[in-house]
Amino acid sequence: MQLKDVMALRRNDMVDNQLEARGIKDERVLDAMRSIPREAFVDPAMAESAYDDRPLSIGFSQTISQPYIVALMTELLELKGNEKVLEIGTGSGYQTAVLSKLAAEVYSIEIVKPLYDRTSKLLAPYKNVTVANRDGYNGWKEHAPYDRIIVTAAPENVPEPLIEQLKAGGIMVIPSGPHGWSQSLIKIVKKPDGTISKDFICDVAFVPLTRKDI
Ligand code: SAH
Repeated sequence: MQLKDVMALRRNDMVDNQLEARGIKDERVLDAMRSIPREAFVDPAMAESAYDDRPLSIGFSQTISQPYIVALMTELLELKGNEKVLEIGTGSGYQTAVLSKLAAEVYSIEIVKPLYDRTSKLLAPYKNVTVANRDGYNGWKEHAPYDRIIVTAAPENVPEPLIEQLKAGGIMVIPSGPHGWSQSLIKIVKKPDGTISKDFICDVAFVPLTRKDI
């Protein structure tokens, strides 16, 4: 059996046992995660572990999120296919690739230059993705407002510029809370009148949202 067939089997097992078994229901999310080769977004030396039920190191003290967390955050965004999405924390690019299958346009920001350099090459075939190397705390005003915003590093508090750049009717999914502790995954909905509702989803452990290059 070829390596790519082995990976496809592991990918299917991951979707069945880690995602569907834990309650992920959005068929579009499940299909996207059945199709995107997660092993392409990790160090080749770690390809063996690409479908493990945990985050993995991607260097520079950063991690590729656990598959279940990618699925959960993506499902919470309720993507139908026509949305403009802002992602803060490109990291490995895996979450970005999943979003690119499910939305119309994806803008993704990564603060660590060497990660940006590596990942922007990996994402080149995903034509609806635009990446930038900057601090995502302030969002990306040029392309705002966004239908959806997803943040994959944890600030202590939800950055005000991100709330401003969310469209009325839009959804933001973000971990937040003190560093070195567990944080809360929060779903924020901006109502048509501009007011905000916040729903606590679950406890999570994310790397901190940093404010300058590290
Ligand atoms: N979704 C990514 C998660 C990577 S970890 C994945 O699954 O691979 C979080 C990422 O956020 C790291 O790459 C980190 O460098 C980046 N990050 C942290 N603070 C940031 C900021 N202020 N702006 C943009 N990216 C940031």
